[in-house]
Amino acid sequence: MKRIFGLETEYGIAFTQGEGRRLGPEEIARYLFRPVVEWGRSSNVFLPNGARLYLDVGSHPEYATAECDVLPDLLAQDAAGDAIMVDLLARAQAAMAADGVDGTAHLVKNNTDSAGNSYGSHENLLVRRSMDFTHLTSVLLPFLVTRQLMVGAGAVIPRAVATDLRPADSNRAAPHSPHTAPTDPGRDLVYGLSARSDVMWEGVSSATTRSRPIINARDEPHADAEKYRRLHVIVGDSSMTQTTTELKVGSAALVLDLIESGAPIRDLSLRNPIRDIRHVARDLTGRHVLELVSGERLTVLELLSIYLERARALVAAGDHSLGSDASAARVIDLWTRILAAVESGDFTGVDTEIDWVIKRGLVQRYLQRSEAGLADPRIARLDFAFHDLTPGSGMLARLEAAGLAARVVPEDTVRAAVDAPPATTRAAIRGRFVRAAHAACRDFTVDWVHLRLNDQLQRAVVLKDPFAASNDSADALIAGLGEAPGEHSV
Ligand code: ATP
Ligand code: MG
Ligand code: MG
Repeated sequence: MKRIFGLETEYGIAFTQGEGRRLGPEEIARYLFRPVVEWGRSSNVFLPNGARLYLDVGSHPEYATAECDVLPDLLAQDAAGDAIMVDLLARAQAAMAADGVDGTAHLVKNNTDSAGNSYGSHENLLVRRSMDFTHLTSVLLPFLVTRQLMVGAGAVIPRAVATDLRPADSNRAAPHSPHTAPTDPGRDLVYGLSARSDVMWEGVSSATTRSRPIINARDEPHADAEKYRRLHVIVGDSSMTQTTTELKVGSAALVLDLIESGAPIRDLSLRNPIRDIRHVARDLTGRHVLELVSGERLTVLELLSIYLERARALVAAGDHSLGSDASAARVIDLWTRILAAVESGDFTGVDTEIDWVIKRGLVQRYLQRSEAGLADPRIARLDFAFHDLTPGSGMLARLEAAGLAARVVPEDTVRAAVDAPPATTRAAIRGRFVRAAHAACRDFTVDWVHLRLNDQLQRAVVLKDPFAASNDSADALIAGLGEAPGEHSV
């Protein structure tokens, strides 16, 4: 079984003030994207590694990895995105200094910006069109509601669950995020699993902003629509550690494998997933009881263990889509250890690998040493530093150096992925085309499925099959680039 994986990551921009003029996120974004615009004449480009880099609304730069068909490639391409953003940040910082701007720009993957807006990470997973989508989502949803116990980023959130929840299947517009309007400034806070849970208002829907769904059903397969769907999971936090990213995407892919294997699966549908996702976010013990549509009652730990045992059997039989047995074994191993840690309350077995556990350790140590409570601005700064990618102020590099945060992908593999696309998907063709067309100074347009030269001939190639890493028409197009450009105008 094969699958295509892609990860989109939105980055937050912040600025720590020096003496001089204050810069807003839009201005910093402009500095950040200046080399991108110089290179590609747009703030929405495809890079030679096959990825898409663009400036989304609200000044959140976004990097969408190229299509990968093995999980280790996805980790490398995703980490390459961070490296590219950090390189751009260094250049922006230098340009700002040259312009006399005094202060430091930061890039963060903290899932919630200072205005309380939630942003984060989208997981893209290819599934066969022949799968019954209703069945697929009914098996996947309970997993996604509870997966945060394994891969949440950790967040300081209000203890109380908002009570104005609309029914999960209604189509009314969502109220604003509860984060934007705290009712009581001295409100009771808890360290929870994920802030994103509070802004999810539906299980499955095609709208993304007004009524954020856990699974976005917008049908844009970026592939042969007769054969494939692109499942778009938008409930996840951006992860800092590669181990958490691997477990996050790997476990979801294994659940899809289970569904696509056609094996009978007992119905674990939740009676109220939108209420549950908020309660799960506030329970670090995994003991929260979920009410199933069937009338059964299971704890979060029990539910995740059911999925784990099914996934373990698939991996043992070599029947999985991760494209790497080593990666699949790591996913099962970490999945097993995080559930055991939650069960026993002893987190020493996972405290360098799971984002929310690492961050909780940092917060706890701080609280023990000081008078601070969770509402203290110093806790917010610590939280920010955990997600900060900025060299010097970001904490992850120091944690890694001290052996307190694990890595999966060697640094030279990450650096290679900054320039090179995954070799085994159509991204390899796109990467070659982008590199060659750029080198030949040709005007071109690219998206996930198309390559086009914007000359008088308007030659275009359609890459409908994301699994195909070679294409004769694309080869001919690329070969032609070396010849006289003809009538093209740049
Ligand atoms: P937007 O984020 O602008 O709303 P979008 O969801 O289409 O649009 P992009 O930011 O363009 O997202 O990213 C698309 C992601 O989907 C990329 O990571 C890409 O690798 C991945 N992808 C492309 N084709 C497929 C496919 N057939 N199956 C699964 N993933 C795919
Ligand atoms: Mg996107
Ligand atoms: Mg998207």
